[in-house]
Formats: sequence, structure tokens, C-alpha cells
Amino acid sequence: MNLLQFDRFDMLKKPIRQRHFLRPITWLISYPAVWAHRSKITKIGMQGLKPPYLLLCNHNSFFDFKVMTAALFPHRANYLVAIDGFIGREWLMRNVGCICKRKFTSDTVMVRHMKRVAENGDVVVLYPEARYSLCGTNAVLPESLGKLAKLLKIPVVTLIMHGHHVNSPFWNIKNRKVKHTEAVLTQLVTKDEIEKLDYKEINARIDTIFKYDDFAWQKDRNVRISYHDRAKGLHKVLYQCPNCHTEYRMASEGSKLWCNSCNKQWEMSEYGELSALNGKTEFTHIPDWYEWERSQVRNEIERGAYRFESDVTVDSLPNAKGFINLGKGKLIHDINGFLLEGEYEGTPYSVSINSKALYSCHIEYNYLGNRGDCVDLNTLTDTYYVFPKGEDFSVTKIALATEEIYNLLRSGYNINPHKTEQLG
Ligand SMILES: [Zn+2]
Repeated sequence: MNLLQFDRFDMLKKPIRQRHFLRPITWLISYPAVWAHRSKITKIGMQGLKPPYLLLCNHNSFFDFKVMTAALFPHRANYLVAIDGFIGREWLMRNVGCICKRKFTSDTVMVRHMKRVAENGDVVVLYPEARYSLCGTNAVLPESLGKLAKLLKIPVVTLIMHGHHVNSPFWNIKNRKVKHTEAVLTQLVTKDEIEKLDYKEINARIDTIFKYDDFAWQKDRNVRISYHDRAKGLHKVLYQCPNCHTEYRMASEGSKLWCNSCNKQWEMSEYGELSALNGKTEFTHIPDWYEWERSQVRNEIERGAYRFESDVTVDSLPNAKGFINLGKGKLIHDINGFLLEGEYEGTPYSVSINSKALYSCHIEYNYLGNRGDCVDLNTLTDTYYVFPKGEDFSVTKIALATEEIYNLLRSGYNINPHKTEQLG
């Protein structure tokens, strides 16, 4: 059997309107958590607005879905959801209104599905960042959003949630039971405006409203998190030491973060701020450290020095029945994009994704709790979970490099003179 013979998830199947009998279940799942966190939902310009509309939400944790359900009550919605959410429960996912999407792929079928949802008079829900935020700040958005809104010809509404990252950060999802989380539901583009406004203007509005910083929110609201393991896992995001600049030697436990190369230590306060236990504090604000890493990666790319190559193990998800282990392979990431090569039951395969077609990439920390860190690569028909081997890598760095390569190529930057002919 080779890769082409796997059953493929049926992406063409039309979206189903949320079944009435399942709707109370979505409320039962959502409301207790919304109440437990005493989540406050503020609505701006929403008076009198009935579906259909396009709802764009920011994405920090599973709690987002619960707050969104409460914010939309009592209207029906369909959601675009990544395929791994469908594993082993495709019927339920479809009947509760989910539409399967493979991340970071552009797809005309999805647009058709969304049009259908609008025609049904329901809410089209999209998490345009397409991944959980790594440190509670906004991730890059696809430029296609404005065009999509114009195609659908329906109002655009945004739901920006605060406190969800500090409550359950992607790098250690333990629920910190943060109270008084906030969400703002805003009508951003009205029905009249959607016809008149240029797609660029719509994009500009979306970009402006999609600015958030959960650690700044925590500080501003004086939210105390006494969870003793609050820094555990933070080294997944902060993988480079700002003192000795060594990569991949950071570690964390309890409320501490440290570098195993120079032994410098930092303490994370109950208000989410860092302070060095010896010497100067380079960054008190976690997102500032992350953005510094981004600048380091950008510099490496500009010098033509960025390249990642590693032996990997690969799982594939051609359908929602479950993972298929493809065994060992090799992953290369450089200025040209991703190249994954391997062999499955004697037949070689190769997956390449051009860097110009990929504005970001999805990563996982310790996937499914025990699988290790991975990069999630998508084609229109398959999803590959790629697990690099060894210690000398950071999937965070790979994600940052993906974004920075895309940005530099878009800006016309001549990254490496020796490779210009390949850039076309
Ligand atoms: Zn160090």
C-alpha cells in the first residue's frame, strides 16, 4: 500500500446546520466554564444584528469555543475546525456544525461551504490565526480575509478574548482558574460597508482589532496566578537564552526558568512577569523575549544562514479515522520552504511546501501529552505531524522562521545573493 491509497476525508460534503437536539449539549458544555471564570462578554455595535455574519475569533485555548458559544447564544453557527479535532468523532463534529479544514491551506471548497452557511442564515465562525497563540499575543493573519468577507457579502464581527492564554497557556495548559476573563464582540464591518469598502480597508480594520497581549492584560487587571508550576513549559516558547544566546538549552520547573548553558535563572512572578535571579533582567515581559527571538531568527535568515535539517518520525492524517505512522523520514526547512522525505512500506514519498505559499505554520508542544514537539504540515489532502529527533531544535523557532521567511520574501528582500535564481 502506498500513500495515495489511503481513504481521504470527504472535504466536499456540505456543511450541516447545527442539529437542534445537539445545541443544548453545546450550551451544557460551555456555560459552566463561562460562569466558573465569571467571563464578561461586552457587545459593541451588535444591537439588532442577526446572522448571517462572519465571526472572527482570536485563539488561545479550548475555552475560546465555550465563550464563543455563549457570545452567539441563541444563534446557530458553523465552525471551521482542523482535521485532528475530528479524529474518531466525525459524525458528532459534522452534526454540531463543524467544517473540516486543513490548516494554512487556501481552498475554494471552504469558500463554497462558507457561502452555504451564510445562505442558511447562520454564523460562519473562523479562527483566522489558525493556531493557538504561543505567548498570548496576536499571530499573523492571512491576507485573504478581506477578500473572503467581500465574497460572502455579510457583516464581519470579531470576538477578541482576554485572559484565556494566562489561564491555560499553550505551553502548559493546566487550568489556572483565572476569574473575570473578558471578551469583546464587535460588529467591525456592517452589511452596507461590505459592498463599499475595499478589501484592503477591511483587512486593515481586522488587523487593528486583532491586537492583544494577555500578559499585558494580566498586569493591567492585576490578575494573580499562584499556581506553583506557573513557569513550567515556558522554555518551549523561550528557547533562546538572552544572556549567552545559546539555543535549545533553556529549561523550566515550578516558577523558574533557566539556561543550562550559562546557568542564568529567571523567576516568573504571580503577575506573569520575569526577573533575573542573578545579573540584569533582559525582559520582564514574556512577549518581548519572544519577539527578540523573532528578530534573531530574522537576522539569521537575512544573512542566508538559516537552515534546519533533522531526522524525523512522521504521522499522517489522511482522514478522521486516526493517525497512520509513516515511520522515519527527513525534514529540511530553509528559504525555499519545507521538504519532507521518507519511505512508507518501501515506496518513497516527498512533500514540499513553498515558503511563498506559507505565511505561518502550526506547531505542537508535546503533542497529545506524550508524543513530543512537532511541526504540522498540510497539503489539501493530507496532514503530516513531523517529530524532529534529538534535543537540538525548537519547533517555536521553525514557526518563527516560517513567518519571517514569508515576510522577507513578500517585501522583496534579497535574502541570499547566491540563491536569487531559485527565488524566481
Ligand atoms: Zn545562557
